[in-house]
Amino acid sequence: RQRIGVLTSGGDAPGMNAALRAVVLAAEHYDMEVIAFRHGYEGLLNNEYLSLKAADVLHVLQYSGTIIKSARCPRFKEVAAAQLAAENLDALGLSALVVIGGDGSFRGAEHLSQYWQGQIIGVPGTIDNDLYGTDATIGYATAVAIAMDALDKIRDTADAMDRVFIVEVMGRHAGFIGLSSAMAAGAERMILPELQRDKPLTVAALVKHIKRVEAVRGPGSYVMVLSEHQWPGGAVALSEQLEAEFDMPCRPCLLGHIQRGGAPAPSDRILASQLGVHAIELILQGATRVMAGIKANQMVAVPLVDTWTKKNPLDENLLRIQHEIFNPVKKSANK
Ligand code: ATP
Repeated sequence: RQRIGVLTSGGDAPGMNAALRAVVLAAEHYDMEVIAFRHGYEGLLNNEYLSLKAADVLHVLQYSGTIIKSARCPRFKEVAAAQLAAENLDALGLSALVVIGGDGSFRGAEHLSQYWQGQIIGVPGTIDNDLYGTDATIGYATAVAIAMDALDKIRDTADAMDRVFIVEVMGRHAGFIGLSSAMAAGAERMILPELQRDKPLTVAALVKHIKRVEAVRGPGSYVMVLSEHQWPGGAVALSEQLEAEFDMPCRPCLLGHIQRGGAPAPSDRILASQLGVHAIELILQGATRVMAGIKANQMVAVPLVDTWTKKNPLDENLLRIQHEIFNPVKKSANK
């Protein structure tokens, strides 16, 4: 009977439990045994593991977080760590390992593959949606839904007071959560990593835009979505700058880890279920060093290395709509 391992690693993402459940149910379906390592690579190094059966995971898909815990494990980058992990996997008689996590976790998986002969399959579990080769990552839809809900609530109070708000969202170095939540909630402005690279925003330009929006629409609310790491000091520092330098009252709001909790969105539960099963079926097909992904409703296997060396671009059409069609200040006015 084939024995496989599974772990969740890096930042937790809503739907990780659903992915774990799918891995265990599919494994049992195909008569495999599942050993789960707790706390990601840390548990793999410390031999912290447990056997998981269908009964252990049946009703976990409605919860975010991960029942087998996640962790960051900086020492996993070392050769000695990968060698130790390989020894531990062999000692347990495991022939394959499923890694549920983001790009860092996949780098770790690739690193391990240099020292271990077993099959390694990645399952994209990250709210950031920043992995190449899959249309969506597990957790992204939930994070966008939470950000949208928060933006709607901010809009109520911003409208009442004709206020400017800067809402900071997660996304690591990608603007997917920023762009999607801004569109879903009708934000007036976005600061996204992809846009900042081309043309970094200045406070003066931002103030100009806020004033022009007011000139076009009359007094009202102005809600801006700021992706994390895109302004020194984040939303708090930027709103302080607006007040101090331009006498423009502004309120910051940091969504932070709220974006990772609560009930996973239906699409994340379904995606996680599909990808968890796909990971097991890839093992049966003899695949290794690939991520289980989905592209245009087709299950795909993407070389792990591609997932971080290649980039998923932001949707050009969404950007165009936000910038041109929905921007109250037309391009000619900016010249
Ligand atoms: P998220 O982006 O959603 O937070 P992630 O998987 O990218 O998820 P990271 O903290 O970047 O999260 O990586 C998770 C773990 O993967 C690290 O703590 C480390 O153990 C391992 N890891 C990351 N990069 C490497 C690498 N280059 N070599 C070996 N292991 C790595």
